[in-house]
Amino acid sequence: MKALLTAVLCLGVALNAQAKAKDGPETLIFTNVNVVNTRDGGIDQGVTVVISKDRITGVGKVGFVPERRNLQIINANGKYLIPGLWDMHVHSGFISPVWDEKVIYPLYLANGVTGVRDMGGNPDILNARRKRIEAGELLGPHLILAGPFLSNTKADAQTISVNTPEDARQAVDAIKARGEDFVKILNVPRDAYFAIAGEAAKQKIPFVGHVPYSVSAREAVAAGQKSIEHLSGILLACSSKEDDLRAKGLTALASRDYASYQKLGDEVMATYDQSRAQVFFRQIASSTTWQVPTLVWTQANSRIDSPDLQNDPRLKYVPASVHDQWAPAKLLKTTSASELAGLKKEADRDVEVVKAMHAAGVQFMAGTDGPDPYVFPGFSLHDELEWLVKSGFTPLQALQAATLSPALFLVKADKYGLAEVGHVADLVLLDANPLQDIRNTRKIFGVVVGGKYYSRGALDKMLDQVEKLAAQQ
Ligand SMILES: [Zn+2]
Repeated sequence: MKALLTAVLCLGVALNAQAKAKDGPETLIFTNVNVVNTRDGGIDQGVTVVISKDRITGVGKVGFVPERRNLQIINANGKYLIPGLWDMHVHSGFISPVWDEKVIYPLYLANGVTGVRDMGGNPDILNARRKRIEAGELLGPHLILAGPFLSNTKADAQTISVNTPEDARQAVDAIKARGEDFVKILNVPRDAYFAIAGEAAKQKIPFVGHVPYSVSAREAVAAGQKSIEHLSGILLACSSKEDDLRAKGLTALASRDYASYQKLGDEVMATYDQSRAQVFFRQIASSTTWQVPTLVWTQANSRIDSPDLQNDPRLKYVPASVHDQWAPAKLLKTTSASELAGLKKEADRDVEVVKAMHAAGVQFMAGTDGPDPYVFPGFSLHDELEWLVKSGFTPLQALQAATLSPALFLVKADKYGLAEVGHVADLVLLDANPLQDIRNTRKIFGVVVGGKYYSRGALDKMLDQVEKLAAQQ
């Protein structure tokens, strides 16, 4: 209340300063809004929220707001205000500048996704883009960058080839020197993995990504891997025959015997050991490792044979050139029938595993791995939240996985993840309460990005433009 009054009293000063301001008002006010507290699920009912420039400067109960020039007042009666959403696993620097900047970014914002963690792409492109976004020259979400992939494959624009401990140390030093936020591991040999962990600790940069097959997820957690993507290595670490199956898998991979490697998946699932899993999950829960299960991605991979795929209304936002690569016939060509059967089993199993891990207190974040086939930038984050609820999360816990948890993980909870005074004004205004039904996060009435308000009409215009562009590409 006090903060709000101060904010309102200070308007005179703010208004003078903003005469030279760019477009739109510098002060945005929501009246009569229900603010969702992502910390505890409390709802501040019917309050006024004052936003000055890019920050929330007041939240309180007032009946009167002075009407002035350069002041935008939104009657948010009956609406619910949540912090901007974060997708913690995307690839937004891959396909082309047009696709990335004019398709993906508007799709994120139109879906209330105001921050993303990019998990591998061309670092030059992404760093330049981040600067333009933060300078207000390009409309897009906040970008957190993991830089290039560290992988035992050959080097390219988005990959540093890592085969030895020396390669590993050099790669970590280079990533740190470039100012990336994370080191991303794709697949590296065992000794290189531990060299990454050692150098990352020395350089004080977190490392994240896949757990290579040569390393137990148990070891990855102990080594301080800050996030594990796609539950990689988790099921194997829960197998009563973990060491034996790992040895067999490594032999199969070394001799490129992919058929035998795939068959191991069934055995991994068949030898799932509940008590072993419980001990492991408690180890993760008491560690600093987060999980980004990307359930929506696993589900998409397991449904490439579904006839419904081509009827997805969101395909209209996918440029034809990308859509071509998503053609089921093409995808099925590189996925054998037995592999697809394995993917289906694994997709179901992942939901159960997330349930058990969540019950054991493991920390989770929402991520999608878009734009992989049928993982739609922006839209699919809402699907992921629904999958988390199907995996035993309450709606509040699912919402936290895309708001407060990313902020805590990024050590930026003073700026993001909460709709509170002092926080960055990245917000989503919903027509209905997301704590009653997580699907309500899709009912977007407006989005605030860095203090600038986009009404439903403005968001629809954004989507229309993407649709037009997609049709031309
Ligand atoms: Zn990925």
